[in-house]
This record gives sequence, C-alpha cells and structure tokens, in this order.
Amino acid sequence: VGEQVLEFRVMPYAQTQLMVVVRDITRLKQLEQMRKDFVANVSHELRTPLTVVTGYLEMMDADNMPPPAMWHKAHLTMIEQCKRMDSLVNQLLSLSRIEGARKQDKDKAVDVPNMLRIIATEANSLNQDKQHQIEFRVDAQLDVKGAADELRSAFSNLVFNAIHYTKPHGSIQVDWQLKEGKPYFAVTDNGDGIAPEHLHRLTERFYRVDKARSRKTGGSGLGLAITKHVLSRHDSQLNIVSQVGKGSCFSFSLPSNKAIVLEKN
Ligand code: ADP
Repeated sequence: VGEQVLEFRVMPYAQTQLMVVVRDITRLKQLEQMRKDFVANVSHELRTPLTVVTGYLEMMDADNMPPPAMWHKAHLTMIEQCKRMDSLVNQLLSLSRIEGARKQDKDKAVDVPNMLRIIATEANSLNQDKQHQIEFRVDAQLDVKGAADELRSAFSNLVFNAIHYTKPHGSIQVDWQLKEGKPYFAVTDNGDGIAPEHLHRLTERFYRVDKARSRKTGGSGLGLAITKHVLSRHDSQLNIVSQVGKGSCFSFSLPSNKAIVLEKN
C-alpha cells in the first residue's frame, strides 16, 4: 500500500482453521534502512582518507622513494587526512553520547558568556587565514539551564561553519541575548549562502551542499546533525534563513524557563 510495508503471517487456529496476522513494519524497515545508510556513510567517510594515506605510504617504498620535493606534500596531506579521520571519530562519539544521554543531564547551570569567550578565542585562531570581521554581541548576564558540553558543540558548530563557508574578508556576527523573554543565539554571515532545495536536508547526517568543499575544511557533514539533536534535547530547534551569494543566519531560541539572568560583576 504506497510506501507502507506489511508483514503477513499465517498461523494455525483452533485445529481446523488458519489465522492471518498482519503487522505494519513500515517504521521498522525505515529504521533498518537508516542504520544501513549510516554504516555505509561512516565506512565511506573513513575509507576515503585511509585510501589517500595508504597510497602515499605505498609510494614510499624503500627501493622506490619519491623525490624529496614530494615528501613535503605527502607529509602535509597525510596529516590532513589523519586529522579528518580524527574529527570524524570525535563527531561520531559526540553524536552517540548525545543520543545515549539521560534526560536529567541537561538541567545544569551553564555559564554561556564564558563559553562564548572560549569559542571566540578558538574562532580567532581558525580565522587567521580567512581574516573575517567577527563580532560577538553577548549578554554577559545571561546563563541557561542545559547540558554544557552539548550546548558548546551547538554554538561552536554554527560559529565555525560561518568561518568555513564565508569567503575571506567576510563578516560574521554572533548574538547571545534575551529575545521575547527567551535565550536566543544567532550566527549571521555574509558568506556563500545555501540554495532553498538544500535547506531542509542540512541537518541530515553526512549531508553537505558541496562535498569537496566541506572536506577541504575538515568537515564531516555531522555538525548540523549534532546541533539539531542537541537543540531537540533542549526543547528547541534550528532556524536557517539563507540566500545564495548573500549569506546565512542560523539561530535558535531556548525555552524561557531555561534562562538564568544573573547579577555579574
Ligand atoms: P560540515 O562538516 O560539512 O561543515 P555540517 O553538518 O556542519 O557539516 O554542515 C552541513 C553543510 O551545510 C555544509 O557542508 C555546508 O554545505 C552547509 N553549511 C553549513 N553552514 C553553512 C554556512 N554558514 N553557510 C553556507 N553553508 C553552510
């Protein structure tokens, strides 16, 4: 029936009769397919850098060494590919930690302004090559109840993406403030922007608008999937507004009862 998958079982009933049991296994099949796709994606993402590294190592056979001029490039590429695998494994671990986390872990007081100060420092070092203007507009009195590690990964994924997907000398603005009584976080960039047909798929695991581009920046396509998960655990969701060639704004609001407004010095 359309996309529906039904399972029929014929069983003996009351000695002389037969009984047919019909079970709707559509969801079960979908989950199985998602699991298979996920394993295939992970294997592919890990195999690609491994193939590159193995290729270089095979070339460096003692009897047949490549010219020294090539070593430097080989060395850099192998390091880059190993870092890519490392980042992928870390993101996978982070995803599985979030999925397995218990509900009560997400109601601790989190010092968001301090967290954003640390992220700003990391962003500045990542920004060395790009030379973007990055402005953080942070309400220093605003903390929240949440899971610190998870919120940190949501904030940093959005900030680092803006740096990666904006051409050099772009401008990026990060906001953290109360908006209509709710803690509100937004990252606005004047970068590449995203075409409408991609927008609804961005938070799928491994979905990337431009795979080659994302790989160059060390991207695994898991950042926004993790962010979506984190936000849903905090009763929130990601809003994306984007226009190709103009830029993007990724934002979310947390429920008002998560806000902690402090008197800080
Ligand atoms: P990745 O590791 O590839 O960055 P993400 O899940 O964080 O994975 O993002 C998925 C895709 O969304 C990216 O590959 C990129 O195509 C697109 N994207 C994310 N943030 C931005 C942005 N600020 N501007 C343009 N495109 C973006």
